[in-house]
Amino acid sequence: VPMAIFGRLHRRYSHQNQETMARISSHLHETINGHRIVKAFGMEEYESARFAGIVDRLYGIFIKDAKVRNFSHSLMELLGGVFVAMVIWYGGREVLAGKSTPGTFFSFMTSLVMIYEPIKSLSNVNSTVQQGMAAAARIFGLLEEEPEPRPAGAVEMPPFSREIRIERVSFSYDGENTVLDNVDFTIRAGETVALVGPSGGGKSTISNLIPRFYEPTAGRILIDGNNIMDLSLKSLRGQIAMVTQETILFNDTVKNNIAYGDYERSEEEIRAAARAAFALEFIEALPQGFDTVIGEFGARLSGGQRQRLSIARAILKNAPILILDEATSNLDTESEREVQKALENLMQGRTTLVIAHRLSTIRKADRIYVIQDGRIVEEGNHETLMANGGLYRTLREMQQ
Ligand code: ATP
Repeated sequence: VPMAIFGRLHRRYSHQNQETMARISSHLHETINGHRIVKAFGMEEYESARFAGIVDRLYGIFIKDAKVRNFSHSLMELLGGVFVAMVIWYGGREVLAGKSTPGTFFSFMTSLVMIYEPIKSLSNVNSTVQQGMAAAARIFGLLEEEPEPRPAGAVEMPPFSREIRIERVSFSYDGENTVLDNVDFTIRAGETVALVGPSGGGKSTISNLIPRFYEPTAGRILIDGNNIMDLSLKSLRGQIAMVTQETILFNDTVKNNIAYGDYERSEEEIRAAARAAFALEFIEALPQGFDTVIGEFGARLSGGQRQRLSIARAILKNAPILILDEATSNLDTESEREVQKALENLMQGRTTLVIAHRLSTIRKADRIYVIQDGRIVEEGNHETLMANGGLYRTLREMQQ
């Protein structure tokens, strides 16, 4: 009975302990990565206090757990002692009264002493098991998360050749607020289609549906007539290159960042991709060239250099479909021009869906869709949209 009670308590504290450890890790991760913001806003003391608060909580849990463990240990020892004493008293009385023999008494005592240690270790095992159960509960909670809303199809996507069709697609992240409402358009092979519109309109959401990071709530997306739901994720994503607004780089060498996901590529191919992305010059100026480790999130590079590295990565991937979320960050004109030229090289000969902010990209687009509140509100090329005098023109004029 005491073992069961203490076991339950121990499990509860183990669970709280692990949760608090997770909070400590995520707090450290946030504040160390965001240390510039913490300093810029003078929040060092606040963050230290917040950290101390979590550590205090962990300390409290440790102490409670230690109390339970030590109390249970002493109590079990005490109960064991009392029980042995009672056996000696009762057994001795029986022997004296002639109801039992000394032989029986001593053999009983010997077996009692022999069983005592195993029972004690059972109580220790229980404590380890309870700790493991608490950890297992957390692990299984994570494992049971659905990795993809619906299992991916098994059909290999044939090489892209004709069109991407977004067919009456609606979407909601939470099942309540509609983010996309009946969006319908087609991108033919070789075209550049631009999405523009006010912030929060749903442009990035559309671009996330094509590689199936999310699934449409209604409608479907067809590539060369195949519903992307039927295609294997590997073959679908293998034909799509993405360049996102935030450049995602890893704390690894320049070479491995460019050849990310495909380490078989030759030095020559990597150099060619870097050259096409206007990155060769600065890479060669780095202390160890292509073998320079660039720091977490590319901390040792400038904004423009980071962007050109991620463009080199997409060029090397050489996928027929390109999804490009143009960065809005203000680079100086020189590095802006280099990024622009790198993007032009990347877009050449590919079918591109671009969330466009730069006028030069928009001018070159075959078609522009203006997205507002999850709907296509205007469509055309730059000239016709300007002539229409609608939302597009208002947005352009505001920018200028
Ligand atoms: P911007 O030009 O500012 O990048 P956008 O047109 O790309 O905006 P989306 O990022 O597609 O807009 O967002 C559309 C709407 O969906 C917004 O209202 C946003 O708050 C919401 N949203 C975006 N991502 C998520 C998410 N992961 N979970 C819930 N809601 C989201």
